[in-house]
Amino acid sequence: AAKDAAASGAEAAADQGAPTIFDKIISKQIPANIIYEDDSALAFRDINPQAPVHFLVIPKHRDGLTQLSKCNDGHEKVLGHLLVVASKVALQEGLSDGFRVVINDGVNGCQSVYHLHLHILGGRQLTWPPG
Ligand code: 5GP
Repeated sequence: AAKDAAASGAEAAADQGAPTIFDKIISKQIPANIIYEDDSALAFRDINPQAPVHFLVIPKHRDGLTQLSKCNDGHEKVLGHLLVVASKVALQEGLSDGFRVVINDGVNGCQSVYHLHLHILGGRQLTWPPG
């Protein structure tokens, strides 16, 4: 219950445009293991990896995308771009036998950082269904 309350708090804060830790990664104020960068997207290794390869792909400009369920038609281009980057970087990371892309949304989705991000996981046989 405490975790739910914390998650709801984070969601509420993000709704009001509060910065997240990812802003500091984008601005290089805090270090991250960045493996891809372009004008609109950034990919970096997850600090708490759940697979031999686990990286995140994020939009550099959050533009209201605190979470996927806040998207609108104006986000189609960036959302498509994030998937293309995810695939390119997955192959660059050697995941030619397959990988998984996950977006956690909101409290039930176990989202903890309210700046949209794709998880890319691979390098081992993943199981289904996820927990
Ligand atoms: P979520 O639970 O919101 O889908 O995922 C957030 C992810 O961000 C988690 O997997 C967590 O390990 C990762 N993360 C949180 N803070 C940092 C950080 O400061 N640096 C990096 N590289 N990853 C982070």
